[in-house]
Amino acid sequence: MELIKLEMTPKERKLAYARGEEVDRIPTSLSANETAPPLYGIDICDYYFSADAMVQVETALANDFQADNMGIGLGLRSVVEALGTKLEYPKKNVSYIKEPALKTLEDVENLELINVEKDGRFPIILEATERLLKRFGEERVIGSGLAGPLTTAASLIGTEMFLKATVKNKEGAHRLLQFSTDCIVTCCKDINRKLGIGFMLSEPMAARNLLSKKQFNEFFLPYLRQTVERLNEFQSGTAIHICGNTRDRWQEVVDAGVSGFWVDNCESLKELKESFGERIAISGNLVPVGVLRDGTTEEIAENVRFCIAQAGDNPCGYNLCPGCTTPIGTSKENMIAFMNAAAVYGRGARKGRMPKGMQDSLEIGEFLF
Ligand SMILES: [Zn+2]
Repeated sequence: MELIKLEMTPKERKLAYARGEEVDRIPTSLSANETAPPLYGIDICDYYFSADAMVQVETALANDFQADNMGIGLGLRSVVEALGTKLEYPKKNVSYIKEPALKTLEDVENLELINVEKDGRFPIILEATERLLKRFGEERVIGSGLAGPLTTAASLIGTEMFLKATVKNKEGAHRLLQFSTDCIVTCCKDINRKLGIGFMLSEPMAARNLLSKKQFNEFFLPYLRQTVERLNEFQSGTAIHICGNTRDRWQEVVDAGVSGFWVDNCESLKELKESFGERIAISGNLVPVGVLRDGTTEEIAENVRFCIAQAGDNPCGYNLCPGCTTPIGTSKENMIAFMNAAAVYGRGARKGRMPKGMQDSLEIGEFLF
């Protein structure tokens, strides 16, 4: 299948869409980063330690799919790794935590804030980002994302111990969360000062499946609010992704001041739009595994159409993307099918209005299949 070519560069599209002008395609991002190297014959464990591989993968993704996003994600573990958490790097899968940095909550006193010039994999990520900016800065907006304070705190001491602390040692849990918040803000600020890029937050730990509403209010919200406030001192807005069920806490997340909310595919974009579309941009939420990785071209197109029908006219804007990370093993063909369906159904998009492509679905069959 051939990729449908577009008229605007991602940067032109992003700026025009933000101004409320009509754009060639609804903003669309592929959340493929550390999961994409196998598409280009690179082992994931090598990708993490090579600026060359990072630049190669991002360049190839841009050429092959024309998604609007670009940048090297700090992901869920770069910060905690730089603070001493030991990671395992499998050849064909994303990294995972082998040993948390902290044995006890008191140990946080011995940690220092991260120096992005030398700690962990930061120097490699900075070098790759700098090279991408040189090569693509004219035509693309380059950004990054990282774990928010809750996921960072849990990854510093281990999820189980952290959750126990929220009951048995609240003061210790708060101290760790404050340290995590300070680390995240300092890292983002230092990188922003050096490279001018912005950041979004990911908080897989903040879903209903993992954290009760009471814990969420006490241990997550204050630090989310603080992080967003401090990041917004140097970037224009801070969006968040939370995996899993979040419906019962949307109000609080929106009230914390986020500019955009990328929700999991188990949640309804339409409901989110109807409740908070006047206040936040919405991203999501194609089914990552069942459809994007494993679906047929028709199923992918149908799911794209459904997502746009749900939120394509969101007053504060909509960005089409998978409901979570693009899974390892997603074929180039399926990613092209996703981008092409976005180009067809999302054609002629304008903030707050259904894209023109949603109206002329009769001709679409020929285009896509
Ligand atoms: Zn997710």
